[in-house]
Amino acid sequence: MADREKQAGAVLTIDLGAIRANYRFLRSQLAGASCGAAVKADAYGLGAIHVAKALAAEGCDHFFVAHLDEGIALRPHLPASADIFVLHGPLPDTELEFVEHRLIPVLNSASQVAGWRQAARIAARRLPAVVQVDTGMSRLGLSRQEVENWLYDPDFLRGIDLCYLMTHLACAERQDHPMNAAQLEAFQALRKKLPQCRTSFANSSGIFLGQKYHGDLVRPGAALYGIAPVQGASNPMQSVVTLKARVIQTRVIDRGDCVGYGGTYRAAGRRRIATIATGYADGWLRSFSGRGFAHVDGVPVPVVGNVSMDTLALDVTDVSADRVHAGAYVDLISASQPVDDVAALAGTIGYEILTSLGARYHRDYVDTQTPRAAQRQPSTEFSI
Ligand SMILES: *Cc1c(COP(=O)(O)O)cnc(C)c1O
Repeated sequence: MADREKQAGAVLTIDLGAIRANYRFLRSQLAGASCGAAVKADAYGLGAIHVAKALAAEGCDHFFVAHLDEGIALRPHLPASADIFVLHGPLPDTELEFVEHRLIPVLNSASQVAGWRQAARIAARRLPAVVQVDTGMSRLGLSRQEVENWLYDPDFLRGIDLCYLMTHLACAERQDHPMNAAQLEAFQALRKKLPQCRTSFANSSGIFLGQKYHGDLVRPGAALYGIAPVQGASNPMQSVVTLKARVIQTRVIDRGDCVGYGGTYRAAGRRRIATIATGYADGWLRSFSGRGFAHVDGVPVPVVGNVSMDTLALDVTDVSADRVHAGAYVDLISASQPVDDVAALAGTIGYEILTSLGARYHRDYVDTQTPRAAQRQPSTEFSI
């Protein structure tokens, strides 16, 4: 075992080959559209630099981050030909940093458009941008009124090269949700009125709503990372993440003994309890208290009592003591319990489980698709 791995309480394995395979699969669903990638929030907690490089090697050249600083951090790691779009657009007085770092803003309001016009004046050249219009989510994007004003203002985009007109789906993972068709119709109506340009429409789930929802550039995130894109259907994506955590100690407790803060679990009989080196500070949410599972060689072992900051407790009475001892691993995310199942146990979504993954895990980047000898990425972040 590598030293770093030995020193850590848990090991998070991220399969870049599976991410690349998922990218190819999503691309195969498109007719004419380009396939970008959402790598915001550190690529959903998996490491934006590793992930974006792996995707760039697969031919991806459109990357979406949320914040300006995410774009600045990513820029030096991608080829000059790659476009990095910043979904939040420029907050006041940050426009020139976008120019300096060659980041393309998504302009979400008339005032962001005005700021970008001003930046183009100062830079004394035309500047690229995406303009987002709101089609029903009421989160980011020009309102209906702002779009109307645009129609009567020939100077609205003065100095701005409009790369894409963009909107975002609110309910795409539910294929029967009426909001999908309503947003499609609203977007098509707006396009007819506005200057002709390419469009960017679907996220992961939107890709599976059919080609009408693709536009010219899709922006998947979650599906790349193995999250199921269609609610109620089987998951066509390869799993990307596994998480295993180590046993610190085991103990036998008797009937009436409590486990953990608050004493919320009281043993009904003699039980063997393992204390595991992962807690809510590692993103193993406190809402798993008393209801999550870990797995030992595919056998589910229940979480008992409240999850602590640095530990959780498992009832391992039903598995062999030879298998669960100090230093042994138990599986928290695995084939037995993929990310979406973990999320369901905690009453949340896979997105939140991934983006909560902790900083204390030892991260092992592997590529199961490519023979190990041919791998270009180093297998761990810390290898020398
Ligand atoms: C996060 C995000 C995406 C990616 O969505 P997934 O559901 O993860 O595929 C695409 N577009 C916008 C505007 C986003 O905020």
